[in-house]
Amino acid sequence: MNTYGHFIAGKAVSGTSGRFGEVFNPSLGEVSGKVALASRAEMRKAVEVAREAFPAWSAVNPQRRARVMFNFKALVEKNMDELARILSAEHGKVIADSKGDIQRGLEVIEFACGIPHLMKGEYTEGAGPGIDIYSMRQPLGVVAGITPFNFPAMIPMWMFGVAIACGNCFINKPSEKDPGVPMRLAELFLEAGGPPGVLQVVNGDKEAVDAILEDPDIQAVSFVGSSAIAEYVYSRGTAHGKRVQAMGGAKNHAIIMPDADLDQVTNELIGAGYGSAGERCMAISVAVPVGEKTADALVAKLKPRVESLRVGISTDPDADYGPLVTAQHREKVKQYIDMGVKEGAKLVVDGRNFSLQGYENGYYLGGSLFDHVTKDMQTYKDEIFGPVLQIARARDFDEAIALPTTHQYGNGVAIFTRDGDAAREFASRVQVGMVGINVPIPVPLAYHTFGGWKRSAFGDVNQHGPEGVRFWTRIKTVTQRWPKGGVRENASFVIPTMK
Ligand code: NAD
Repeated sequence: MNTYGHFIAGKAVSGTSGRFGEVFNPSLGEVSGKVALASRAEMRKAVEVAREAFPAWSAVNPQRRARVMFNFKALVEKNMDELARILSAEHGKVIADSKGDIQRGLEVIEFACGIPHLMKGEYTEGAGPGIDIYSMRQPLGVVAGITPFNFPAMIPMWMFGVAIACGNCFINKPSEKDPGVPMRLAELFLEAGGPPGVLQVVNGDKEAVDAILEDPDIQAVSFVGSSAIAEYVYSRGTAHGKRVQAMGGAKNHAIIMPDADLDQVTNELIGAGYGSAGERCMAISVAVPVGEKTADALVAKLKPRVESLRVGISTDPDADYGPLVTAQHREKVKQYIDMGVKEGAKLVVDGRNFSLQGYENGYYLGGSLFDHVTKDMQTYKDEIFGPVLQIARARDFDEAIALPTTHQYGNGVAIFTRDGDAAREFASRVQVGMVGINVPIPVPLAYHTFGGWKRSAFGDVNQHGPEGVRFWTRIKTVTQRWPKGGVRENASFVIPTMK
């Protein structure tokens, strides 16, 4: 049994609130440990430690901060197998997918290694007589990240990689469902030469989140999770004067034009729809074939593939995907499948009764496939977050593009076509933040930025890339004058202008 406390001031410490959450091994359907749920006082302690660490860390020159990031990257790579094992055990995703989760986070660390260049300001020489103007980016101070269960390595690294490289001191409040990897990352950061108090982990639930949102010393909060909580974090955090970015849920559509290569599309939909048991914010959850012929052919190709998905324990190298994260979440997904049937969608493949031999207590679900899903159905409007793909047929391109455009979520979307003109028009018109053209999961690389539109993101600054640097810093602009020969000017009562 693992018992997780917190990682404060460079040390693993026990929780003192007396409250704990259970951590499960979803492949076995067993409790594997417990995690301390912090009190406000424990969060406050971490904030004070971070506040003390900030002046020295922000004064370290950016090249040296980058060197800590280089060391950290090497240590994460060295410990990749152990991290992936912890991640798969607590989350349920298969080992290869856990390594992908860690690797995508490391790519942000690689980006953050370029911080000396990324933080450079601008300079104008001779903006006026003897006048130069320059700007500089400065870190904010103590900042925090509240992260979800589904990417326990990548999403903390999205946030702290950039925040810390910029000179901030970062507190991570990870998901209480899988705290093992965030805790280990904090230890590795210390081993990499990161001073105590620069990266801390405080485990917890709503109480810890509220403590972050109301703490006067926390300057900025980054959140990733479901939309209802994202909206809450955004409104409460900004009401307390903080800079907040809050990424929420998703319903990602894939438009399949009649000219698309359907064999290739089938492969893409199977991987993007069912990988990680559909528990990805960029999973494809709705396929929109254009025209009845395309739809019939697509369903005929998808059905046998969904029926033959290999579901297994997270350490099975042959499994396509593993269990869902908790029994409670599996029940929620099952209820959505029940609801879809009641709403009149056609359940082409039913994964509800799947059970894995020898692991009957695990939180497994087979793949499910719905056809004839319509936009008025609740199961279409909501995020299901499970191994369920819905097909919503469209008569033509305009009807197809209207679906993701008018949906409440706007995280990712994809179009499959051989027609450059259609693809170009689609990318320009669709009201979604991240677009794939013949790419099913268009997660931008670390040096671009990640963020959805509408109810998929609250706040207007994306994660990582140059936008991340903007989020974790503030700009200061200096106008300086060095008059020649000590010339004095008379008092002027008019706003200075450049004539
Ligand atoms: P969640 O909203 O349940 O939890 C996210 C975080 O909020 C966790 O740290 C959790 O402890 C905390 N939290 C939970 N309930 C809270 C409450 N009532 N008050 C305050 N804090 C609370 O999300 P999850 O189930 O961990 O993650 C899955 C969700 O995250 C999905 O909706 C998925 O689409 C979304 N997600 C979005 C992105 C993105 O970038 N848009 C990326 C990954 C996941």
